[in-house]
Amino acid sequence: MVKQAVDSEVIRVRARVQGVVQGVGFRPFVYRLAVSRGLGGFVRNDGRGVVLEFEGEHNSVAAALGALETEAPPAARVEAVEWVEVTATGGREFEIAVSADEANAETLVSPDISTCEDCLREMADSGDRRYRYPFINCTNCGPRFTIITGVPYDRPRTTMAGFEMCPDCAAEYRNPADRRFHAQPVACPVCGPRVELRGADGEPVPSDDPIGEVPRLLKAGSIVAVKGLGGYHLTCDARNAGAVEKLRNRKTREDKPFALMAADVETVERFCEMEKKERALLLSPKRPIVLLRKKGDELPEAIAPKNRYLGFMLPYTPLHRLLFEEGLDVLVMTSGNRADEPIAYRDEDAYGQLAGIADYFLTHDRPIYRRVDDSVTRAFRGGEMLIRRSRGYVPTPVPLLKEYGESALGCGSEVKNTCCITKGDRAFVSHHIGDLVNPAALAAFEEGVEHFKELFDIEPTVVACDMHPDYLATQYAENLSGVAKVSVQHHHAHIAAVLGEHSFEGPVIGVAFDGAGYGPDGTVWGGEILLAEPSRFERLGHLRCVPLAGGDAAVREPWRTALGYLTEIFGFQSDTFKHYFPEVSGDACGAVVDMLEKRFNVVESSSAGRLFDCAAALLGFSGRVNYEGQAAVELEQYMDLDETGHYPFEVTDGEPFEVDWRPTVAAVVEDVDAGTDPSVVAARFHNTVAQTVAAAAERARETTGLSAVALSGGVFQNVTLLDRTLPLLERAGFEVLPHKYLPPNDGCISYGQVVVALASL
Ligand code: ZN
Ligand code: ZN
Ligand code: FE
Repeated sequence: MVKQAVDSEVIRVRARVQGVVQGVGFRPFVYRLAVSRGLGGFVRNDGRGVVLEFEGEHNSVAAALGALETEAPPAARVEAVEWVEVTATGGREFEIAVSADEANAETLVSPDISTCEDCLREMADSGDRRYRYPFINCTNCGPRFTIITGVPYDRPRTTMAGFEMCPDCAAEYRNPADRRFHAQPVACPVCGPRVELRGADGEPVPSDDPIGEVPRLLKAGSIVAVKGLGGYHLTCDARNAGAVEKLRNRKTREDKPFALMAADVETVERFCEMEKKERALLLSPKRPIVLLRKKGDELPEAIAPKNRYLGFMLPYTPLHRLLFEEGLDVLVMTSGNRADEPIAYRDEDAYGQLAGIADYFLTHDRPIYRRVDDSVTRAFRGGEMLIRRSRGYVPTPVPLLKEYGESALGCGSEVKNTCCITKGDRAFVSHHIGDLVNPAALAAFEEGVEHFKELFDIEPTVVACDMHPDYLATQYAENLSGVAKVSVQHHHAHIAAVLGEHSFEGPVIGVAFDGAGYGPDGTVWGGEILLAEPSRFERLGHLRCVPLAGGDAAVREPWRTALGYLTEIFGFQSDTFKHYFPEVSGDACGAVVDMLEKRFNVVESSSAGRLFDCAAALLGFSGRVNYEGQAAVELEQYMDLDETGHYPFEVTDGEPFEVDWRPTVAAVVEDVDAGTDPSVVAARFHNTVAQTVAAAAERARETTGLSAVALSGGVFQNVTLLDRTLPLLERAGFEVLPHKYLPPNDGCISYGQVVVALASL
């Protein structure tokens, strides 16, 4: 603290505050802090954050310095406060200094922030000039990342540029003591954006109160495309089974769960189990979709077929808040896209893209500059485990291992792609871009890269990509010129991401269990035990390889995968395998076994995801997978959580060693043959996978002497599996590192790639 002195002695300090401190009401906050304590001085933004001076009585200055961190506005994130004493000037005035080139590109761009309590109160107050105004916001809340077109963050460089402030708004904007001082998106019904109702054809539907109209339409069973912060949602009344069914059919989204938005946290509690942390996640200003354990069956099954969880979020814009009228309390809020396309966010595109799905459009004239999906998370061990890191989280940086002179671009993976760009000791991981499997997604990726380069004023000199030559992101990297290129093995990137997030330089034992990644030996990797450091890795062991008939076809149809496992154990007897897959024709089954026997169009894979597919198929998952990891997700859903039994497996000698699943799959088959309840088999299977992770880690410890284990890969999105794996590792004396800021799935790959690339230089 401030040096020992008489409390009433007058001192002056100069402090620098770093972190997310611009565009979040930090200067008005400092102003109020100073004025309330009778301090003089100033506060201003500069290229690295906020600089301020406080002058006054020693104890008041000390208290104000302390409050910079403890009382910071909700949307601010204070990373560091450094201060020095300077000569007192005798001034007792406090001012907010506005410099010409305020924010430069070093400044952190704030993520979008859900509507604050003050704004909600004003919106509900019939005497307020923003009564029922769907775009109310202030320095503590509102759109940021989705409307910022460039830096410095200032109104002309947002999609609010076209709205000229009325005198009332301008007065608030200029008043340092006002909650809207320099709130760039400030607006009111007189000067700001307006909503509009349009019909299925995109033509305007005249209405005096479009936003009052929508709850009535929803109540009557309509599907309305609602323009939100980062794109359009498709919305319907979640209690109306007919409407939910209709939406599912029109969207051709066969089984993937729909997200829900509830009026308030109490409503969520009626449908889901909720613990303290889950409640906190729901209420956080980031407003993610939180996966919660379903209770009761009041809501239609079609919302999340065969799923034990529901994905709930709370309203995060004033416009959302206004939808909960006419007795509506739960709405389906699913991304406004067709099957695999990115979410629609430009009005013109939305009318075309959502034609035939939406009955109405609730749109408005504030453009969305950046398409951003909702984030998805779940509570895990007192913290959270992200499944999709996007709105509300992005573009908050993730720390790097250390400060680097070079800036790197990570191009990411094929599925759940993100890109990532670094500057100094920070990595800016992009919003979820989606599966890079079509030209629309590739265009979204390229836009994302360009936007991040511009937003943070970075021209990367190093480009990192996956080793897979067919990934569009890899091809993008290859076509760049004038940059150093580093190609990174997929699972090395997974583990390196964990290392970076924990600022752990390694080496560690890395367990990467996921669907698929390019293996340099010509097989598909995905059940890997690595010795990993940021700059290098060694493959210590892996799951025994399985032949997959038809490669990708097996990924889509788990029964094909299961046949690969069965033939490895029991030989090529299609007649005895047929009855496990009653919905598959005998001929199809025979043909696959034939392919496997002749090793025709067969790929070898050590994937852990496939092992889950195999178990799911043997337990009755009969169809095609229509979203990544679906069979495994369903398997997790119906397991008996009280079952503690498990199956045998072996860890073989050799370098790399193999985890042999043959005894496991044979035991699953035995249980299935004996008619054991599938929920029990599913649980035993999960328990076994947890044990294989622990056993593999033990084996790795024997040869390397390492005792830290990093876990990554889509398989670890399964918290039931994690809940069983972590205690085993911890009891065996391992230090366990799960992901901290990023999802374990391929959303973390772009960041892992830059960690590797920067360390390898
Ligand atoms: Zn507000
Ligand atoms: Zn106004
Ligand atoms: Fe992966």
